[in-house]
Formats: sequence, C-alpha cells, structure tokens
Amino acid sequence: MPSHNGRHFLQIPGPSPVPERLLRAMSMQVIDHRSAEFGALGKQVLEGCQAIFKTSGPVVIYPSSGTGAWEAAIANTLSPGDKVLMVETGHFATLWRNMAARLGIEVDFIGGDWRHGADPAALEARLAEDNAHAIKAVMVVHNETSTGVTSRIPEIRKAIDAAAHPALLMVDTISSLGSVDYRHDEWQVDVTVSCSQKGLMLPPGLGFNALSQKAIAASKTNSLRRSYWDWEEMLKPNANGFFPYTPATNLLYGLREAIAMLLEEGLDEVFDRHRRLAAATRAAVGAWGLEVLCQDPREYSPVLTAVVMPPGHDADAFRKVVLEKYNMSLGAGLSKLAGKVFRIGHLGECNDLTLIGALSGVEMGLAAAGVPHRRGGVQAAMDELEGRSLANSETA
Ligand code: PLP
Repeated sequence: MPSHNGRHFLQIPGPSPVPERLLRAMSMQVIDHRSAEFGALGKQVLEGCQAIFKTSGPVVIYPSSGTGAWEAAIANTLSPGDKVLMVETGHFATLWRNMAARLGIEVDFIGGDWRHGADPAALEARLAEDNAHAIKAVMVVHNETSTGVTSRIPEIRKAIDAAAHPALLMVDTISSLGSVDYRHDEWQVDVTVSCSQKGLMLPPGLGFNALSQKAIAASKTNSLRRSYWDWEEMLKPNANGFFPYTPATNLLYGLREAIAMLLEEGLDEVFDRHRRLAAATRAAVGAWGLEVLCQDPREYSPVLTAVVMPPGHDADAFRKVVLEKYNMSLGAGLSKLAGKVFRIGHLGECNDLTLIGALSGVEMGLAAAGVPHRRGGVQAAMDELEGRSLANSETA
C-alpha cells in the first residue's frame, strides 16, 4: 500500500471519526468506579442520555457493542415462544431477526427489497389481523445502515395505535441516534437500542437501552433468561450513578463530552446539518449519473448514502482503489449487496469541507477505477451546500 500523509478519511457509516475534543476527554486516568467522583460522572451521563434519547425514563448503558444492546432488549422483555413482528429493511434487520430466532422467539418477518423502509401500512394490516394479540413486540431498525434507508417511526407508532394493538415497540437507533431526529417518549417507543460509535462520535464499546414503563413492566414477568443484561440489576445502582460491574469509565468520560457537544450545537442543528450533507451527497451521486439505493425520498438517510454500482463493475474493487490512492475508507455492500453498492458515511463530525473532500475522493476514484460516470458531482454537491442547486434555484 502506498504511504500517505495527512489524515485517513473514515467515511464508513460508523464507526465515525472521533473528534479531537472527545479523544482529549477520554485521555484520563481511570478512577475508582465505587468512588463519589465516579458516582457524579455516572449521574451526569445517565441524565445526559435522557436528553439525547428524548426521554424522562431510564437509559441503561452497557459496556458492549450495539449487538449486545439488541440482545438486552429481547432478553428483558420477551419469553421463549413469543411472537414478534419485524421488517426486512436490510442486513441489520435480518441480523436482529436471526438473533431473536436463536433466542427462541417466533419472528413474523415482513419481506422487503432492501430499498425501502418499514411500511407502516403493512405493519398495521398485520397487527389488525392479530385479534388474539399474539404479537408481543414490533421491532424495527430506524436507520438501516446497510441500505441508507430511514424508516418513519412516528408513522409506525400511528400504525400500531390505529390497529389498537398492545405490542411493545422496539427501535434500533444504532446508526441514527445523535444524527437523525428521534423522540423516545413522544413516539411511545418501549425500548430504544443504540450504541456509541456512530452519531455519538465515540469509539465502539457502549450499548444503550432506553426504557418505557411498559417495557419495565414486561421485564418483571417475561421468562427469557439473563444475568449480565438484566435491567433490574443495572437500574438499582444506576439510581446513584453506579454500575453493577466495572463500567467502561473512559468511554463514559467521552460520552459526557459527546453529549455536551451535541447539546452545544443544538440537536435540531445537528439533525439539519446531517440532512444538508446527505442532500449534497445525493446531488453528487445524481450528477455522476449513478443511482442512490434508497427509492423513497421520504426515507433518504441523513447518515449515509448507498450508491448502486453500474452493472459489470465491482464496488469492492472501486473501494480498494479509493483506499489505496486516496487513503479513504468507504462502506462496503453487506451480504446480498456485496460488490453491488458502496456506502458514503456523512455522520458525526462531518462538515461541508470534510464532505467535499470525501466526495472528491469518490469522484477521482470513479475515474481511477474506470467506472463510467459523468464529472461534476463535487460541483453539484457544492451548489447544493451553497443553496444554488437546480432544485433550489426556482425558489432562490
Ligand atoms: N444495527 C445497526 C443499524 C447497525 O448499523 C449495526 C452496526 O453497524 C448494528 C446493529 C450492530 O452493532 P454493533 O456492530 O455495534 O454490534
């Protein structure tokens, strides 16, 4: 591999680059996790998480990746043989389905084409048929990181209410939290699952469950076995800022700072920034003459854009050229999309100039890899960022 100077461009859809400010916040000596000093840190982060998840209920923090937080959501609420309703939005929804099945849950999996989000009407129809209320939970991925499609959670909430169905609503916000508008309480989500390495801009290693009172009530009577993941074991010491086992202290230092950064910028401003960068990325893709994988403009992801490779061209060969020539990592197509798409992450610590740098790398990489395209994607993205795009010019 040729040597490179300057920084590596980590443009995968998470882990996202860790801001210097967070690196500095974590570069601290470890402290006694039973000390008063730790208790104060614990309280700060547990309360701070409530602002990010938009909940007044408890948020549980595990030293885990997002997959652990998925398992915790299931293990604390469901019983072997329970039925749940899920939607095949892509690779991650499929993995969560597989996990539920391995834990003895019966999954009704609504099929999908990996180009659309969860269809609220299809969910409503399935729930309306379930007169016996056999379905115990609806489980959806908010931002499907494998496809760049964001499901409309408020509409899914409405669909559950329209069917007058008592199922729990569990949402994976692993790649949306801190990047896409999300409201645990307002949308009456029962368990929100998330993790540290995407919109929170931290290294991997923290998993989250935000809980409703209904979810906590379910955890009192469900019968899936658990120990490490048990909410009750967590909630007791959490009341004083402590954890039942050794917490990931330095990641919690980082989390405190990440929450401060997001709140200083303002969550609405953070979400606007992500939407704007995503729109600029799509403008570039359109100008290149390539296709965005997501097919419904209401579901375009503010976090990442998956780009369809022209037939006969391999996305992984293209990504290799970009990495070797320009020191930039782009996201791979996952499972059935392997080689067929590449993914551009535009989340976390991303701004106009870093995005334009990344898109320049893609445009030069397309040329270097001999992928048929038109020039001008970077220009189109700059026009979009400056509000001078064709779509904007009519209202300008
Ligand atoms: N869910 C989604 C939407 C994801 O993007 C990921 C990882 O990228 C996961 C679940 C799994 O999380 P982790 O790899 O942190 O276990």
